[in-house]
Amino acid sequence: MADLIIPRQILDDIITHAKELTPYECCGLLAGTNGVVSHLYRTKNIVAMEGAQNLSSFDSAKAAHLERLSSAERAEIAFVMDMQDFSSAKKDMRNNGLDLQVVYHSHPHDPARPSVTDIKIATDYEEIWPKINLPIPAYLLVSLMNSEPEVKTYWIKSGSVTPADVLIR
Ligand SMILES: [Zn+2]
Repeated sequence: MADLIIPRQILDDIITHAKELTPYECCGLLAGTNGVVSHLYRTKNIVAMEGAQNLSSFDSAKAAHLERLSSAERAEIAFVMDMQDFSSAKKDMRNNGLDLQVVYHSHPHDPARPSVTDIKIATDYEEIWPKINLPIPAYLLVSLMNSEPEVKTYWIKSGSVTPADVLIR
């Protein structure tokens, strides 16, 4: 039995999102029930936004560092989900009796595997998910580095990365 079942249409939507945002990273959430994904929520990557004013709500040292970079450089470092988009997605999931299943983002120039930063952020978030009443999600990466987009999904737990068993249908 697969860890996750993701409809082909949702996978195609993720790839479309990645292509629209390239050279910036796209990000979003997949929700469903019992590992069966049924909903996609796009979220803005505020790291990729001009000015990065919204970063003030995050760690100020990190924000100051990001402010000095061009938006293209910033996007290559990481992604930070827009909290308003995140909250409205979370609300919609609750209203529809869905659970968070997957956090996705793209790597425009890098392979479909978590970067050191991705692993660090996922590890930091392990403590946060239960506090905001969400299950620990799988992490889906879409790479656009080759002409054929590549999609891979992982579990990131206690700093270690293992492939998730995903059925596409
Ligand atoms: Zn990444």
